[in-house]
Amino acid sequence: MALRLFIATTSSGKLADFGEAAEEYQVAIEPVPGLKTIPAPHEDGDSFEANAITKALYYSTFAPGEVVIADDSGLEVDALGGAPGVRSARFAADTGLVDSPDANDNTDVWNNIVLLQKLEGVAPVRRTARYRCVLAAARDGEVLLTAEGSIEGRILEAPHGTGGFGYDPLFYLPELDQTMADLDVGVKFAISHRGRAFAALLGRLA
Ligand code: IMP
Repeated sequence: MALRLFIATTSSGKLADFGEAAEEYQVAIEPVPGLKTIPAPHEDGDSFEANAITKALYYSTFAPGEVVIADDSGLEVDALGGAPGVRSARFAADTGLVDSPDANDNTDVWNNIVLLQKLEGVAPVRRTARYRCVLAAARDGEVLLTAEGSIEGRILEAPHGTGGFGYDPLFYLPELDQTMADLDVGVKFAISHRGRAFAALLGRLA
C-alpha cells in the first residue's frame, strides 16, 4: 500500500508542489481533514524549523494515527541580513501598508513590491538569496522528524515568468538563466528547496 501523508497547508502554491511530490514518489498526499475550518496556530517561532514543528504538532491532533507534514519556508536575502526569512509570507504586512493576507489575495504582489523597494540601488552581484524549506512530520502530537532543503539564486530588478507563486518571478537561477516562475512545476520541484526537503524527509520516513 502506498505511503499516505497528510499535508497541513492551504497555500495553493505549496499544494501544487506537493501534488508533484505525490506523482514523483508515488505517495498519497492529502490535506488534513477539515483543514480550511481549523483555526491556524500562531507561527511566532524565530526559525523555519520551529514554525514547521509548531504546525505539524498542532495539525497532527486533527488526523489521529496519521503522519502529518507541515512546511515552513521562505526567502533569505543576503543584502537584507537574511530578511524576510520566517516573515516571508508577511513581508509587506510587516511594513504596515497592507493586511496579510490582503483582502484581494494580492499578498504575493505586495511582498514582491516591498522586496524590490528594499533592494533599490543594490547591484546585481549583491542581490544573492536563497529559498529555504523545513518540513516537519508528526503523529498524534509527537514530532517524528524534520528535513531541510535550500536553493541559491539572485533577486532580479523586475519580475519575469508566470508560473510558481510568492517570490518566484524575482528569484533568478543563474545556471538555468531562468526565474523560478519560468519553470514548469515538475522542474521546479526537482530542484527547489521544497523538493529537496521532501526527498530528504521521505528517505528518512521510509
Ligand atoms: P509560510 O507559509 O509561513 O511557510 O510562508 C512561506 C512564504 O515564503 C510564502 O508565502 C512565500 O512568500 C515564500 N515562499 C516559500 N516557498 C516559496 C516558493 O517555493 N516560491 C515562492 N515563494 C515561496
